[in-house]
Amino acid sequence: LADLRARSERLESLGTLAAGAAHELATPLSTIAVITQEVERELSSGKLTDQTISDIQTVRSELDRCRDILDRMSTDAGLAIGETLVKTTVGELVEEAVDGAGDPQAIQVTFADGAATVPLEAPLHGLAQAVRGIIKNAVDASGPQPRVECRVTASNDRFTLQVQDSGTGMDAETLRRIGEPFFTTKEPGKGTGLGVFLARNIIERLGGTLAFSSTPGEGTCVTIQLPTRLPAPGQAGASDLAGHGQLF
Ligand code: ADP
Repeated sequence: LADLRARSERLESLGTLAAGAAHELATPLSTIAVITQEVERELSSGKLTDQTISDIQTVRSELDRCRDILDRMSTDAGLAIGETLVKTTVGELVEEAVDGAGDPQAIQVTFADGAATVPLEAPLHGLAQAVRGIIKNAVDASGPQPRVECRVTASNDRFTLQVQDSGTGMDAETLRRIGEPFFTTKEPGKGTGLGVFLARNIIERLGGTLAFSSTPGEGTCVTIQLPTRLPAPGQAGASDLAGHGQLF
């Protein structure tokens, strides 16, 4: 039963992604349809004008936009599907997550004694991508000189990563809605509103938790807690992970 539920949750998040891709692609595709009709008319009337050239450029830039949307969606789909579990360490996971999250000068990482070498069994790349999204959000919420602190503590069976920023913070409405699929306050094209939704999905599937505390104008602290070993079969979040070595 737990197996079925986990599988249907994953299908649901993939369905959500597909719906998102369809929704986002609709606008550039209808622009392309309208403009190519226009160009067709211009060509069949034998009139090639500057307008024709600029129409073709618009089609090209709308196609670029479609490609960007698909790129973002395929990154998110990778997160939703998950991947094979690998033996790694807490340090390696955090390093991979921080890598590419923003200007290295802006992100400070501290490990409590021994935390970096604690062994971890996890879908390394998918999980690192999820955590990277959380760190990127912290950078995005900060001003021109972001300062994000990542603090890692660990015991034998769990580790905690806190991502603290001194950015815009979130108002009550944003805090309530964060993690809802497609909820974003970023400009169109800048955010999918799927980062936290998918991060929570993968973290909870691994038996972990994701929590936000935030004060508008002061900043946000995101706390990620994860078990270092897979939960035993039948426990929350264990689903069909154990035994199969595969999330999907
Ligand atoms: P996206 O980044 O594509 O907008 P997310 O699901 O990652 O989607 O985030 C949803 C929204 O949550 C963001 O648009 C932003 O409003 C808010 N948010 C997330 N992290 C932070 C943060 N550290 N500080 C302020 N707001 C945040």
